[in-house]
Amino acid sequence: MIAEIIAVGSEMLTPFRVDTNSLYLTEGLNDLGITVGFKTIVGDSLEHLTGAARNALARADVVIFSGGLGPTEDDMTREAAAGALGIELLADPAILTGLYKRFAERRIAMTPNNVKQADVLDGAEILPNGNGSAPGQMLFTAYEGKERVIILLPGPPKELKLMFTEQVRPRLASRLPARFIARRQVKMALMPESTVDSRTAPIYTQYPDVETTILAHSGEIQLHFECSKATLAEAQERVDEVVSRVEHEMDEDVFSSHGETLEEVVLLMLGMRNMTLAAAESCTGGMLAQRLTSVAGSSRYFLGGAVVYAPELKTTFAGVPEELLEREGTVSEAVSRALAEGIRERTGASIGVGITGVAGPGPGEGLDAGKPAGLVYLAIADELGTEVKELNLGANDRERVRWWSTQHALERVRRRLL
Ligand code: ATP
Ligand code: MG
Repeated sequence: MIAEIIAVGSEMLTPFRVDTNSLYLTEGLNDLGITVGFKTIVGDSLEHLTGAARNALARADVVIFSGGLGPTEDDMTREAAAGALGIELLADPAILTGLYKRFAERRIAMTPNNVKQADVLDGAEILPNGNGSAPGQMLFTAYEGKERVIILLPGPPKELKLMFTEQVRPRLASRLPARFIARRQVKMALMPESTVDSRTAPIYTQYPDVETTILAHSGEIQLHFECSKATLAEAQERVDEVVSRVEHEMDEDVFSSHGETLEEVVLLMLGMRNMTLAAAESCTGGMLAQRLTSVAGSSRYFLGGAVVYAPELKTTFAGVPEELLEREGTVSEAVSRALAEGIRERTGASIGVGITGVAGPGPGEGLDAGKPAGLVYLAIADELGTEVKELNLGANDRERVRWWSTQHALERVRRRLL
C-alpha cells in the first residue's frame, strides 16, 4: 500500500519555505505500515493542482493533500480534488452553521469567501479541526476501478498534526488491513559506495519485498533495509535475513547493524577488552575527544588527552622532542607517531592516538611550509607497536578534513581492536 503526499502552496516553491508537513505525515503513515511512494509540491494553481491530483490518484492508494483549505482565492484544494475525481462539492449545512457561530462568537463579520470552507467532496467524512476553522475531509472511493483514500488536511502544521493523529490515524487503522514496517541499517566506514553496492547488490536484489537504500555521507556508508508485512514478526524476519547475509558478506567492514554509531562501537570494543584510549590532537582540535565523550559512560574507556595545536604544546603535553618538530615539521609521520606514543605513555592508556595535519584551506606554513591542505598523519600506538597512516583528504573544506580525520582514527582503532 503506497501513499502520495501533495503539499499545496506556492510559498514552498520559493527558496524561503520548506514542506515539513510531509515529514510528519510520512512518519505517521509508516507507523500504519503505509509507505510513501511519492511527494509532490504544487503551487496555488487550479490547473496544476488538478493535474497533480490526477497523477496521484492513478498511482497511489492513499492521497493526502496538505494546505489550500483556507477561505482565500488561492485555496483550491477542494476544487482540484473534486475535479480530478469527477465528483461534486456540496455545501455542508453543519459546517456552515459552525462557521457562522465561530465568527459571531468572535464578533467579526463573516466575509462571503468563508462559505467555501463548507464545501465537501460528495460522500466524504468531515474531519473536525481542533486548532482552526477549516475542517478536513476523508473520502474512501474508487478511481478508475481502484480503491482510493483521499484526505484533505489544512496547511498550518499545528492544525494538520492534530487532525492527522486524532482523526485520520484511527480511521485509516480501522479501514485498512494492518501492516507493519520493520527497518534495519548496516553501517560501514570509509568504503566506496560502489564497492559496497557491487558486493551487496547480489544479495539484496534477491529480496524484492525489502526496500534497500544506500546512503553515503561523512565517511560512512549506510545500507537501509525496510519491509512491510501483515505482521511485525514477518517483516522483521525478512529484514533480519537480508541483514545477516550482508553482514556475512561484508564481514569486518561492518561496524554496526543495530544502530550504533562508530564511536559507540569503538567504546564498546574497548570495554569488552578492558582497554582504554587517549588522544593527542592537533588539526582536529579535540573533535575526536568530542565524538567519544558524546557517548554516555565513555569515561571508563576514553581517558581524555590533549589538544596540542601549537608546536610547543606537542612537546609540553605529549613529549614530542623539539628537534623532531624542527627537523620533520609538525605535520609528519614522525610527529604523529611521537604524539600517539607520548600521550599513551603520559596517560597510561592502552591505546594512544596522534593526529596532526594541515586542515586548510591554505597549505601549511612555518615548519610545515609547502605541505598541502588535507595532508594528515594519523598514528595509533599500543603494546604491539605503532601504526601510522598518511591521509590525503582534499584541500577544499576545512571541516571535512577535520571530520574525516576523526573518522579514520575511529575506524583504524576499531580495526586494530578486531
Ligand atoms: P489557511 O486557512 O491558513 O489558509 P490552508 O489550509 O489554506 O489554511 P495554507 O494557506 O496552505 O493552508 O498554509 C497555511 C500556513 O501553513 C502557512 O504559513 C504555510 O506556510 C504553512 N504550511 C502550509 N503547508 C505547509 C507544509 N507542507 N509544511 C509546512 N508548513 C506549511
Ligand atoms: Mg491558505
